[in-house]
Amino acid sequence: MMKPKVLITCMMAPEALKKIKLFAEIKIKSSLSKKQLLKEVKDIDAVILGTDNFDRELINSATRLKIIARFGVGYNNVDIKSSTRKKIFVTYTPNVLSDAVADLTVGFILAFSRKIIQANDHIKTGNWNENAPFPLGSDLKNKTLGIIGLGRIGIKVAERVCAFNMRLIYFSRTRKNRIEEKYGIKFRTFKNLLKESDYISINVPLTKETERMIGKEEFKFMKKTAFLINTARGDVIDQQSLHQALRNKRIAGAGLDVFQQEPIPLNDPILKLQNVILTPHIGSGTVETRLSMSLMAVNDVIRVLEGKRPIHLINKDLVEN
Ligand code: NAP
Repeated sequence: MMKPKVLITCMMAPEALKKIKLFAEIKIKSSLSKKQLLKEVKDIDAVILGTDNFDRELINSATRLKIIARFGVGYNNVDIKSSTRKKIFVTYTPNVLSDAVADLTVGFILAFSRKIIQANDHIKTGNWNENAPFPLGSDLKNKTLGIIGLGRIGIKVAERVCAFNMRLIYFSRTRKNRIEEKYGIKFRTFKNLLKESDYISINVPLTKETERMIGKEEFKFMKKTAFLINTARGDVIDQQSLHQALRNKRIAGAGLDVFQQEPIPLNDPILKLQNVILTPHIGSGTVETRLSMSLMAVNDVIRVLEGKRPIHLINKDLVEN
């Protein structure tokens, strides 16, 4: 009997690849153009999808497709409506990556407060000199962290930062009384969060409502000493306004793991700034987390190929109707 076909467009853990190979014929292809993807999806039964755009045209072309397993938690790159219409399951890998993304967020906060990157450069460029001491950093204690989007990752950030005795505030679509009580985190309006925060962590998904939610006007409310950290999606910030705000020292700095275009083009002016710390979309990038994500995605694909419902379903209407 012919094995079902699975296209994989991201880097998966070898253990998970071994497992899926028992059930399916796999093809691993990353950085495909739309034209190449259109060709590849024609006869596939499942796709394990990285950050490639999977739009209506692709969904309509993939006539045998039963499941789109998003390797990650943000699913702004998948046309959910078209998938549901075509009865294609869309799954994701929530929770297992929240700790890793929160760790990276805390890494940015510490790197800014203690100037870790500059300190490293200071030594390596031969500037360590007792007569010209390295500029002092600042304590985190009593500083304010504002979390925009208090969901799975935002909560993990709050949990970690409690140990630093920072003041915690958040803005989210819904109030979270239990979390407020547990971590002593207080709700603020969006504008007040921007005004009060020394560090801002963006943890909302990219949706029509959150697209460019931080732009020219929002930077005006922020403290000149504020650091903005984005591990969510590049399009939540208007990157051009961010560049202006950083260049004009309207804010003190930005830690960015995600960008409007990825990989960020080498001629992007953001790359020339001194007050940024940039990482190449590595929020979930640890060996342990990627293994958990890989197994989660593969298990859902196998379930669907066996005629069962996947566990981590996004388009729940598909089973409720
Ligand atoms: P989540 O649990 O869904 O949390 C997102 C939070 O944002 C929720 O609390 C949500 O609503 C809130 N929210 C949604 N729309 C909003 C709006 N318009 N205004 C204010 N708050 C809004 O998602 P998560 O697992 O924490 O992940 C968050 C995002 O991180 C993902 O969507 C993904 O894009 C990104 N991510 C990046 C990486 C990376 O590698 N850098 C890795 C994983 C995830 P409520 O307040 O109603 O709960």
